[in-house]
Amino acid sequence: MHKLSLSELAAGLRAKQFSSVELTQHYLQRIARRPELNAYITVTGERALAQAAAADAALAKGEAGPLTGIPLAHKDIFCTEGVKTSCGSKMLDNFIAPYNATVVEKLDAARMVTLGKLNMDEFAMGSSNETSHYGPVLNPWAPDCVPGGSSGGSAAAVAAGLAPIATGTDTGGSIRQPAALCGITGLKPTYGRVSRWGMIAYASSLDQGGPMARSAADAALLLQAMAGFDPKDSTSADLPVPDYGETLQNSLQGLKIGLPEQFFSADLDSGIASVIEAAVNEYRQLGASVQTVSLPSLELAIPAYYVIASAECSSNLSRFDGVRFGYRCQNPQDLTDLYVRSRGEAFGAEVKRRILMGTYALSAGYYDAYYLKAQQVRRLISNDFRQALAQVDVLMGPVTPAPAFRLGEKTGDPVQMYLSDIYTIAVNLAGLPAMSIPAGFSGGKPVGLHLIGGYFAEQYLLQIAHQYQQATGWHQQFPADYAG
Ligand code: GLN
Repeated sequence: MHKLSLSELAAGLRAKQFSSVELTQHYLQRIARRPELNAYITVTGERALAQAAAADAALAKGEAGPLTGIPLAHKDIFCTEGVKTSCGSKMLDNFIAPYNATVVEKLDAARMVTLGKLNMDEFAMGSSNETSHYGPVLNPWAPDCVPGGSSGGSAAAVAAGLAPIATGTDTGGSIRQPAALCGITGLKPTYGRVSRWGMIAYASSLDQGGPMARSAADAALLLQAMAGFDPKDSTSADLPVPDYGETLQNSLQGLKIGLPEQFFSADLDSGIASVIEAAVNEYRQLGASVQTVSLPSLELAIPAYYVIASAECSSNLSRFDGVRFGYRCQNPQDLTDLYVRSRGEAFGAEVKRRILMGTYALSAGYYDAYYLKAQQVRRLISNDFRQALAQVDVLMGPVTPAPAFRLGEKTGDPVQMYLSDIYTIAVNLAGLPAMSIPAGFSGGKPVGLHLIGGYFAEQYLLQIAHQYQQATGWHQQFPADYAG
């Protein structure tokens, strides 16, 4: 059952080949049998079975939608009413969310079944899932390697068949990079396409939720239910949501692909370079033409991102003060002691590093030199993408400079860790939609192909991804240890 697509699962439920309760039990058993991946922080078995029973009742009455009765799991950054929402942090280890994020609300309303909450880097800060308070997640393809981050639990769970599909969030690559390292399909929508309400904020001008799936067709189904205007999120886009499934079958004849020259520097792993070349050739077979384009400001993306993301995080995380919710230190002597020790004891090293960098960048006297400068660079990067996407329909390239790295390999060197997002971060600075789709292997580890489109071009990206997945079988590969 764990190899079926969402539409196959929906068809099986309708044909009564299995019930939602049986399907949910199947996944709960797999989760219990394979704890070594550490993909889940919380498993909500009882609730899931109750939701499944309700879905079965709706199915019996003929009231089912396309996602009714299908299980999923949420990154533990989405607030789930009555369920612990930790954001991967000791700070929120005791936090039971009093309300649902809009995304959770919408997927509950679609009668999906929530299996639990997935592991992640603390407050979504990281590229390897190693900053989680709950310990690292392992890569199902290579247990000595990281799954990527920050949505590492989501990627590992979907890759290993511990959930048919999952939610993730992407501030600088956290959907696409783990999707690439675990061989699944991840979509970061245009900024504003999916509501951020109830999604714990890291860097508000960059954060965006999206689907992490086994295929583009599955991602299209989940995005359909996640997307749309939300009056509770002032940055959500008040635009109609197209039918993402409608155009999946359309031909790619005449598609114009741009390869940004800066994506193919000498630093790129040679195995990845050949996978990307083969994938682009496959697109030629599908009727596409290919040309080189340039993103001259790309090299400034990482420094600009780490100023902006840290600045916004220092502000967003100031709400965790030991007073209103979350961790509180024992026996505070006075208010200052309460703040200092609660935050000192509950935040991990990476989160503290970001808060310090961000507070510095925003401080009087440095604001112009750092924050304002970074915002100017952000504009240059957006303009680069605008110019490139005026010449072609889609940009393609690698998602990561190398395949999954070993656990512990980069934890001592934050800059090396930051460099693993070199191809993804600029897309968030520009607010564009992008995907990672499985395109092959390098040294036995999965490689992702990056697709970057114009604003609100999710439907087009999904079509481009789906046509490739119809022609190749990379997305159907399953890590051998988890196939059975
Ligand atoms: N790795 C990047 C960071 O640490 C991106 C994380 C993300 O997209 N949430 O900030």
